[in-house]
Amino acid sequence: MTQSMLIDGARVPSITGEAFDVQDPATEEVIGQVPLGNEQDARRAIAAANAAFKGWRTTTAHEKAALLHEVAHRMRARSEELAVLLTRESGKPLAESHDELTWSAACFDYYAELQRNTRGRVIPSIEPSQLSLVIKEPYGVVAAIVPWNYPIRLMARKVAPALAAGNTVIIKPSELTPLTMLACAEIFDHLPPGVVNIVTGFGATVGRELVCSPDTHLIAFTGSFSTGREIARLAAERVKRIHLELGGKDAFIVAEDADLDVAVPGVAWAALRNSGQRCTAAERIYVHQSVVKPFTERLVDYVRALRLGHGLEPTTDLGPLIDERYRRRVERYVEEAHQRGAHILTGGRRPPQFERGFFYEPTVLAGVDHSFAIMREETFGPTIPVMTYRTFDEAIALANDSDYGLGANLYTSDPQKVKRFYEEVKAGMCWINDPLTDNDSGPFGGMKLSGGARELGQEGLEEFLETKHVHWDFAQQRKPWWFHERSA
Ligand code: NAD
Repeated sequence: MTQSMLIDGARVPSITGEAFDVQDPATEEVIGQVPLGNEQDARRAIAAANAAFKGWRTTTAHEKAALLHEVAHRMRARSEELAVLLTRESGKPLAESHDELTWSAACFDYYAELQRNTRGRVIPSIEPSQLSLVIKEPYGVVAAIVPWNYPIRLMARKVAPALAAGNTVIIKPSELTPLTMLACAEIFDHLPPGVVNIVTGFGATVGRELVCSPDTHLIAFTGSFSTGREIARLAAERVKRIHLELGGKDAFIVAEDADLDVAVPGVAWAALRNSGQRCTAAERIYVHQSVVKPFTERLVDYVRALRLGHGLEPTTDLGPLIDERYRRRVERYVEEAHQRGAHILTGGRRPPQFERGFFYEPTVLAGVDHSFAIMREETFGPTIPVMTYRTFDEAIALANDSDYGLGANLYTSDPQKVKRFYEEVKAGMCWINDPLTDNDSGPFGGMKLSGGARELGQEGLEEFLETKHVHWDFAQQRKPWWFHERSA
């Protein structure tokens, strides 16, 4: 059965009536169909979101809090069913889907409360009878363009603060994972029509129309660097506000004093969670020369014991990659490294036990350096390339030798190294002895080519608010100040 889009509070097919297939990446079976929206569908949603804006922006903070908590409540109430669907279309293990839904619901609760504290400020005025106010207001219509790797979590990080700030929203899910998002339409049913809209279809049509339309006011995008750059170019021509969360190539430094019992599984999961399809996956591992041998041996043993399978199987540690194109990309990086002399210590192939599905064995490599593409470009797969360093200066220089600057990790018990690490590493987030930790209260985002936007935290709300300076003389109607000076 074909699912429906959500436009102006109604479940609708695409204007053309066309639909496209969505597959289970673990079996390659078609598991659903969704409307193939086009530019006209996007324009319908833009009109609905604009019409809804006036009412939504004046909804009181008290009412918005209740409505956003209700979104969270509805998501939790359906989380079992939504998690299964998320695993089927994305391939991630069921426990990870549950985790994603739990965090997404919490994000709506978080912004439901935070928006109650939205505040501007009163600044000193020029005359005693004036009030000079700095106030915050919503942009208008926000386009939330979302990738496939965390389709609900990344939607929530945009939609919750955008709504909390008083904007209306159009969600454009990835064409690879639209099913769970459409199934989530019900969680917004209690909101006024047009406040949240969901349009499915391709980036080059629906996504592009959302970016180029004069009637959308902010583009909140998470996705690849190349798409982000294209959106930045289109938005710059229109001087439109954008919020970009792009790719990463996170470094992970393991110091000589790291506890290997912790560091081995810590590095493995920082690299392999969601089969490495995370913007903050540890994609470059730097290990001190004094511990690299035991670390690598134990890492290989640990990774070999991980079980691949369908995400719905309770024994599965790692699911497949999202599709064949992404699997080929990972293969190319590993092949190139191998041809150039890297050692593949485990993995490096499609697992022979699976006839179907886009599986790839988790792969540990050694003998690489920064001239290898696998150490420079985002791999977005289950690869763990390990390099040796001698001094902490060298480790920091290696961590900074990247076009990206999203996150960075360190294992050490030496506070001097910790301080140097978080002061000197050019990345938006530093995890010290604590990889993979999420915290809705803390800003998430990158530096350099990872994009400069911040999601979550107070900063994540500010991204969806514009600043206005109001001058008000409450005692009299005045002529402009220069008029008095001239006539004096
Ligand atoms: P992608 O750039 O291919 O697609 C992302 C979204 O953009 C999709 O919804 C797609 O339909 C849409 N799109 C494509 N072309 C468009 C266009 N011309 N105009 C408007 N929209 C368009 O990315 P992906 O492959 O879905 O996701 C993987 C990427 O996302 C990786 O690079 C990863 O690092 C990045 N990512 C970043 C973060 C972060 O917070 N920094 C988080 C998760 C993923």
